[in-house]
Amino acid sequence: MVNEYLKPKTLDEALAALAAPGSVALAGGTWLLVGEEHGTRPDLGRAVDIGELVSAGIERKGATVRLGAGATFQALADSRALPACIRNAALSMANRNTRNRATLGGNIGADKSCASLVPILLALDATVEYAVRGADGKAVTKTAPLADWLGRKEGLALAASFDTAPGTLAATSRASRTACDVATATVGVAYRLEGGAVKALKIAMGGFGPHARRMPKLEALFEGKPLPSKAEIEKLAEPSLDAISDQRGSAAYKKRRGAVILADALAGAEALS
Ligand SMILES: Cc1cc2nc3c(=O)[nH]c(=O)nc-3n(C[C@H](O)[C@H](O)[C@H](O)COP(=O)(O)OP(=O)(O)OC[C@H]3O[C@@H](n4cnc5c(N)ncnc54)[C@H](O)[C@@H]3O)c2cc1C
Repeated sequence: MVNEYLKPKTLDEALAALAAPGSVALAGGTWLLVGEEHGTRPDLGRAVDIGELVSAGIERKGATVRLGAGATFQALADSRALPACIRNAALSMANRNTRNRATLGGNIGADKSCASLVPILLALDATVEYAVRGADGKAVTKTAPLADWLGRKEGLALAASFDTAPGTLAATSRASRTACDVATATVGVAYRLEGGAVKALKIAMGGFGPHARRMPKLEALFEGKPLPSKAEIEKLAEPSLDAISDQRGSAAYKKRRGAVILADALAGAEALS
């Protein structure tokens, strides 16, 4: 139940409204207004609708891709300007009705364990532009690595950006029992191949903790070495994954599926540019 609904006309007004205790930013509402049955919905004292204040633009300028926080999953999935790893991550949200409403800003704001976009954005070392309220009440724009922003979720996310450096390979994948079921694991990977060896490997996974995060132990298994076969990747990765048993599956099932999607992503990574 939303007790109060506000639709500010400017970013300054939105930040002022959000500064009041009990206020929460409302984007597509596909997480905020759903999930009561799972006990996951926060107390919605005052919903501050930011839908028309946050850019939905998707741009590629030179090697840099900039995704407006208001970009919907469907717009990301449809954009020809984007590398396959981002389009596939957006498309992995199986329900088209939800893709039409769900935004990038809401995905990083909700920061669910099996978030679709967070792992690939972490693997691509994305940065977040966000707005905070300055001392004079005006919006001040700041930039931070996504990993840092996720740790504190300060202000309103305005956009996420990443570089498509030539030679970088990247991919995303998702495990679920059926296409429409909730995910048990998500993954994003990025790396280069230099002289046949894996370099600058970044692996981020969801489903193995409260939030999707980088996995340094997994990265260390493959960094600086030739990429092993998929079967070998699975065998090496599975023992390094920690999972809990819950309604999504047993710990053993999640570790197995996690290792399989990691192997799929590493072996199937495609050029970013
Ligand atoms: C049927 C269904 C299927 C789903 N499947 C998936 C799935 O496959 N993968 C997945 O990741 N999620 C899934 N979700 C969850 C949800 O759709 C996503 O998390 C979505 O990205 C949320 O975006 P939203 O715009 O609807 O955010 P909202 O629900 O409006 O907000 C989510 C949170 O983010 C905050 N927020 C919103 N915008 C910003 C911003 N610009 N800056 C800072 N904080 C902000 C809000 O305050 C809130 O805390 C599903 C939901 C449903 C109902």
